[in-house]
Amino acid sequence: MVKVALESLEKSFGGHKVIDNLNLSVEDKEFLTLLGPSGCGKTTTLRCIAGLEDVDSGKIVVDDRVINGVPSKDRDIAMVFQNYALYPFMSVRDNISFPLKLHKVPKDKMERKVKEVAELLRISTLLARKPKQLSGGEQQRVALGRALVRDPKLFLMDEPFSNLDAKLRVETRSEIKRLQRELGITTIFVTHDQSEAMALADRIAVMDKGVLQQFGGPSEVYDTPSNVMVAQFMGSPAMNVMDGELSRPDRVTLKVPGLSGVVLERDEVARGAKSIKGDGARVGFRPEDAKFVPGGSGGIPAEVYVEEPLGTHVLLTLTLGGASAKVVMPAGFRAAPGTKGTIEVAAGKLHVFDAGSTLRVA
Ligand code: ATP
Repeated sequence: MVKVALESLEKSFGGHKVIDNLNLSVEDKEFLTLLGPSGCGKTTTLRCIAGLEDVDSGKIVVDDRVINGVPSKDRDIAMVFQNYALYPFMSVRDNISFPLKLHKVPKDKMERKVKEVAELLRISTLLARKPKQLSGGEQQRVALGRALVRDPKLFLMDEPFSNLDAKLRVETRSEIKRLQRELGITTIFVTHDQSEAMALADRIAVMDKGVLQQFGGPSEVYDTPSNVMVAQFMGSPAMNVMDGELSRPDRVTLKVPGLSGVVLERDEVARGAKSIKGDGARVGFRPEDAKFVPGGSGGIPAEVYVEEPLGTHVLLTLTLGGASAKVVMPAGFRAAPGTKGTIEVAAGKLHVFDAGSTLRVA
């Protein structure tokens, strides 16, 4: 059983707070992704857990034991970084067995472990090669092998796919997920790629500027983002967000230059019915939760600006008054730039945030 808890973690570099009162818990065998824009403190968090960085305050607890003062080498934690840092002059076999050699593991046990890990990672035929004779994806697997060979308690991965091309990224992603499930190792995985985070995680912790923004399952974070930052960070293309005003708990009026009197109804607001200061709102909808109706009259008046046929779907960029929005339409849909119509948002798919705090209203 390996559970991890971060309690009120704080870390600054030269007076600049990089981790701000971070509280997180990772359950046994859980796959957690730390997600956020570049510089938000993900890597630093991972380095603190691994013992490569000291925290200023707060506790790192593994299985009910505070490990703050424990040296990195005694933490029994494996970490895979962005650059795999394989030893170039050693064979794959020697790269993988290196951590075992350091710990003076007997030769027969070492050979057995290397064989086992190589089979697991499907690199048995590559053991005699040097790193430069491997593709990026294969090098990646060797780095994973070297991390896994010691049966670590906890697996930390920092953007391990960043050197792979798009196709290999998706393949390796599935492999990692399979491997993590198979081995049942509690894992914390850092990425700035929201689709990677969604695909892999049991739970996602979204960070921004060192502060945890939301912590929940992938669909929870995607469907009910806690604030505008999370709403726009999750999903590609990003959620459309524009200014509005909450005229009644169940109604928002868009406040977009050149667009007057557009009122959108919203069930959830009525149910959740939180009031917001000054009623200023940010109103959002996802491109896939809306459609463009050429010549339509209900909804938000809009005009096609750019049409992008992408094979599986068509992405439309629309102008609505002084704002723009993206909408995903089924493959085969055609609407030339200049086509006028309306945007209709699916029932229950409007998101409303307080304009001041940017927090979700309901
Ligand atoms: P990325 O996705 O770009 O790797 P990140 O979310 O992992 O970003 P961190 O690497 O944790 O972010 O860095 C957070 C902030 O701390 C950044 O502003 C970075 O410049 C700063 N930082 C990180 N390490 C140090 C250090 N050793 N000394 C000074 N500042 C640092």
